Amino acid sequence: MHNAAFAAAGLPHLYLRYRVPAPALASAVREARALRMGGVNLTVPLKEAVLPFVDTLTPEAERIGAVNTLLFSPDGRLLGDNTDGAGFLAALRGRIRLRGLRAVIIGAGGAARAVGAALCSAGCAVLTIANRTPAHGERLAERLAGLGTGTRLVAVPLATLGRGDALAGAALVVNATPLGLDGARPHLRYAATSKGCLFVDLVYGRRPTPFLAAAARARRPTLDGSHMLLHQGALAFEAWAGRPAPRGAMARALRSAGLALTEPRAAATVRARRPPTR
Ligand code: NAP
Repeated sequence: MHNAAFAAAGLPHLYLRYRVPAPALASAVREARALRMGGVNLTVPLKEAVLPFVDTLTPEAERIGAVNTLLFSPDGRLLGDNTDGAGFLAALRGRIRLRGLRAVIIGAGGAARAVGAALCSAGCAVLTIANRTPAHGERLAERLAGLGTGTRLVAVPLATLGRGDALAGAALVVNATPLGLDGARPHLRYAATSKGCLFVDLVYGRRPTPFLAAAARARRPTLDGSHMLLHQGALAFEAWAGRPAPRGAMARALRSAGLALTEPRAAATVRARRPPTR
């Protein structure tokens, strides 16, 4: 995606992948600086581990408490940014009204923190965090309440999500767990949501995740994680290159890697079971 963007923008840059174990992070950051790299992306578990090595955090990274994009300033200072939350909001643009929204996030890890902070800042009215380990969900709810955006935060154990009225009132349900990578999905009463409730999975892949497939069977609109992937990458490109990202070229690169990047469609058009023809 990034190499396609550099080529489309006529930039002589190269995006490379390195596997950096957490104990080697300090030296990897030092070497990136010494090699005068233009920028760096980080993924789990390095997004938080990098915080001690960064000179300045953007307000976005500060709010989320994690960094997925590094920028080296000309004076050698290291700036930590986070494009996950803004990438998530960009993926939702035009699909759902965020002000006054009632939403549910499943999960309380780094991705849930980024998505939660973004939703709170965008005017979400009520946000329910449903997590397998209730203490982690409660900790995230407290952290997001500390942002002071006025969003009402509620934490519930994932196992009891179906019992309250959070699902029935929600216009957005986000899976921010890795469930789906292994063929599993959160067990929810998908049909307990309102008809227009949008189900978003942060997991992306070649096929609809079990979470989105179940939502589609309940005839709810769905959106997979490839949209957030595209937009968080485009925002990182813009931070590094200082110019608009060629999103079309980036989307084509993702599609040619097999990601769907399909527009959300109501399940009725995605995979409605046809009544048997007689
Ligand atoms: P993480 O920090 O490891 O968080 C994992 C969360 O998932 C925790 O809340 C954990 O619950 C929960 N979880 C893990 N296994 C579970 C299971 N079997 N059943 C129920 N809950 C389970 O991971 P992360 O960084 O937040 O990432 C989450 C997912 O988002 C990953 O699949 C990642 O690839 C994806 N992601 C996508 C994008 C994108 O651009 N589309 C960006 C960032 C992340 P406990 O608290 O109980 O452990």
